Amino acid sequence: MSEIIANGLRADAAPRDSAERRAFDQDAVEHLIRQLLTAIGEDPDRDGLKDTPRRVAAWWAQFLTPDPGVLDTVFDHDDVGDQWVAVSDIEIWTICEHHLLPFRLSLTIGYIPAGRVIGLSKIARIALRHAAGLQLQERLTAQIAQTLASLTGSPDVGVWATGEHLCMSMRGVRATRARTRTGCLLGRLRTEPGLGDRLLAATEQRRHG
Ligand SMILES: [Zn+2]
Repeated sequence: MSEIIANGLRADAAPRDSAERRAFDQDAVEHLIRQLLTAIGEDPDRDGLKDTPRRVAAWWAQFLTPDPGVLDTVFDHDDVGDQWVAVSDIEIWTICEHHLLPFRLSLTIGYIPAGRVIGLSKIARIALRHAAGLQLQERLTAQIAQTLASLTGSPDVGVWATGEHLCMSMRGVRATRARTRTGCLLGRLRTEPGLGDRLLAATEQRRHG
């Protein structure tokens, strides 16, 4: 069920992270939202809308600036043996770059420690950081896997994502119950037959057990 998508993603297709993006221009966004309201036939000066451009611009500013919390809290841990660590049911929201509509992901993120373990809350933080921009589910899944691998020094990483995309459920085919699943397996999770699926199955079993 898991699809390997880590390779073959074009680097130039990656979103700019907050350090590389041009400075956010809140006044310009506010102005554009006002223009958008006019263009869709609304009166931007009517009571319900007069603060909307400011609110929308403030939201974009917040969304694009992820919490700068520390990501790289790792602990040396030689005695964990050959076990895996996985965090499931991590819920994040981001914005689809094709339609500028939100999508919600439920993530399971796991890895096999190689002498170092990462603080568990950092795993969710990695996902949040990559969600702070215009995204694609496939790319976000791969970026989380690659960041976790580089922070932990473990090549054995798996990320599974189930997405609900408003661009599918509220426009186009209106497939309200459709869910999109992606997975990125690296290292042994990719090369050892069935290992990734076993890890995911065990995580789901614990969740329901
Ligand atoms: Zn979309």
